[in-house]
Amino acid sequence: MGLIECTSNASLWRGYDYYEEKKVMHLQKIDETHYSAIVEGTAEEPYRVHIELDHPRKSTCNCPHADGKRIVCKHMMAVYFTAFPEEAKRIYDEAVAYQEEQERLQEEVPDIICRYVEKMKKSELQDALLHLLFTGPEWQYERFIDDYDLYDND
Ligand SMILES: [Zn+2]
Repeated sequence: MGLIECTSNASLWRGYDYYEEKKVMHLQKIDETHYSAIVEGTAEEPYRVHIELDHPRKSTCNCPHADGKRIVCKHMMAVYFTAFPEEAKRIYDEAVAYQEEQERLQEEVPDIICRYVEKMKKSELQDALLHLLFTGPEWQYERFIDDYDLYDND
């Protein structure tokens, strides 16, 4: 498991923002799996961050959120993305692709509904309509009555 899998979604994206805003300073590669840096945070003093790629929860940061806890905070993520910009790009591209896929699926829903309704039998349509009218919002029920003048019997 890497840092990405150990952090929260909020810390991941806040860390990404910090990386984009270039808040990581004095990045040092200690060896293949250990990096340290100074990260500008909300406090006056910047935070001292140390990340361990093999053991993400042994990473340290002296911010109030992570200090003394086994939490992968946004400062650690900012250091990670600064050390591995290709990972930052991959994560960002994945999120954009996911978003686009969700939007594409949303756009297809009306067509899917139309195709489905076209294939329904009359009795199925009647059941579906009654179900929507009796279990749906009141405005829908009243609108149906209005649209078809159901209060007028003459
Ligand atoms: Zn931190």
